[in-house]
Parts: sequence; C-alpha cells; structure tokens
Amino acid sequence: MKPLLGKNAIVTGSTSGIGLAYAKALAENGANIVINGFGPMEEIEATRLAIKEQHDVECLYSPADMSKPDQIKDMVAQTIGEFGSLEILINNAGIQHVDPVEDFPPEKWDAIIAINLSSAFHTIRHAVPHMKDSGWGRIINTASAHALVASPFKSAYVAAKHGIAGLTKTVALELAQHNITANAICPGYVWTPLVEQQIPDTMKARGLTEEQVKKDVLLAAQPTKEFVTVEQVAALAMYLCSDAASAITGSILPVDGGWTAQ
Ligand code: NAD
Repeated sequence: MKPLLGKNAIVTGSTSGIGLAYAKALAENGANIVINGFGPMEEIEATRLAIKEQHDVECLYSPADMSKPDQIKDMVAQTIGEFGSLEILINNAGIQHVDPVEDFPPEKWDAIIAINLSSAFHTIRHAVPHMKDSGWGRIINTASAHALVASPFKSAYVAAKHGIAGLTKTVALELAQHNITANAICPGYVWTPLVEQQIPDTMKARGLTEEQVKKDVLLAAQPTKEFVTVEQVAALAMYLCSDAASAITGSILPVDGGWTAQ
C-alpha cells in the first residue's frame, strides 16, 4: 500500500524545480496534492493532469501569491474545502536576487523576506489547527545551505533562510506533543530555473564568465563538484513524511554535497 494514501498535502512553489519534484514524490506515495506557483497556465494544467492521472490521486492548483497573506489563507481554505483535511505542508516557494548590500533594491529585500520567509509563517499558522484535528502532521520547509552559512551578495536570501531555520525549530517545539513534526531541508546547489536565472547577475556582480560562475562560485562550495538533484531533495522529504521519521523534528538537514561540512 502507498504510505501516504489518504493524506492531503500543499506544496508551495511547485510548478517548477524542487517543489515539482516534491509534488510528484508525494503523489507517487499516494497523497492528494495542492500545487502552487507561477507559470504559463497551459503548462500548469498539463502538470496537474499528469500528476493526477499518473498516480491516481487528486491534484488541485492554487494560484496563491506567497507574498500575499490573504491569498495564503484562501489556499489553505481551498484545500480544506476540497480535501476535508490537511496533513502535509511543504513550504518551498522562493526567489533570489544577487547584489552587493549597498546596491540591494529594498523592494527586492521585501519580496524575498515575504516569499522565502513570511509565507511559511502564514501557511503554518493556517495549517496547524487542521493538522491538530487530524492528529498527525508533517511540516517541511525548504531552507538552503544558506540557512547555515552565508555567501556574499545574497543578503536577503541568506537572512530569509536563516530565519526559516529559526521558525522551523520554534514550530517543532510547539508541536512536539501533537504528533506533528517540523523540519527544514537545506539543499546545496540544485540545477533548477532559480539557479540558472542568477547566473547573469552573479556574472555582473563578480565580473566572471558563465563557466567561471558555475565552477568557481556555484560548485566551488560543493565538495562533490556535482549539482544536487531535485529527486535527492524530494527523497529526504518523503523520508521525513514517513512514520519512521516521527522522532526527527526541529532538525535542519543539509543535502549539500558536503558544502556545510567545510
Ligand atoms: P524554481 O525557480 O524552480 O521554483 C520556485 C517556485 O516558486 C516556482 O514554482 C515559482 O513559480 C514559485 N514562486 C515564486 N514566487 C512565488 C510567489 N510569490 N508565490 C507562489 N509561488 C512562487 O526554484 P527552486 O530552485 O526549485 O527553488 C525552490 C526552493 O528551493 C526555494 O525556496 C529555494 O530558495 C530553495 N533552494 C534552491 C536551491 C537551488 O540550488 N536550486 C538550493 C537551496 C534552496
């Protein structure tokens, strides 16, 4: 039997990259899913139908903007309205901006803090009462190696990811006796659109070529010299969703090819 059969899940930022891998893995394990994020509507609809049909689960799409607390509230209400309960929440939506701190646009700072950090506070506060009703829950926050160490030119991102580590630990303590775990996964560099899109800005900020950015900036930090795959990140999330992982809570777990061991 599929281990997550009968469980209902939200994955924020799941139209692409790591979030899409989480959604596929949850569906493969039997969970119904609400996917969320931006992109061309026909692509999102094709993704939704493929998940639903390949894995014989329900799959809904929420267009909620994670920078808008009211839309986050509506997404959780939509989930409960359609599925009746909510047991798994994966906070994953994220954006990046690369600039020296003195040039960092304040509106980019605000957007990164809203999407990469505050959205998780809002999803969690709306989801927790439903997890308590179910008597079982799993909260997984996609943090980053940048929740543990910093890199220059990423002030907002590093601040948000360190923040999400603190939020994860606090929520884990509050929920420790409710059969609800909260953990953060900290990927190193994973080859997704988010990483690809920051290459031109990093080239500009550091005066490097594309190849130099990949080798000397991105993979320089990663002792394995290989990008982490989205499937490797999703596999850890599936373990955290299992009953075997019920004693793992408040943990900040790197999947980073050894980056933060240095
Ligand atoms: P991605 O760009 O492929 O995916 C980001 C997702 O978030 C997309 O679905 C996008 O539509 C969605 N999104 C962006 N803004 C949103 C908003 N306002 N409201 C709702 N959805 C929104 O990026 P990814 O690399 O898969 O990143 C996913 C998460 O993993 C992010 O939190 C990122 O910080 C984290 N992460 C990525 C890496 C990496 O190397 N790729 C490493 C560590 C952590």
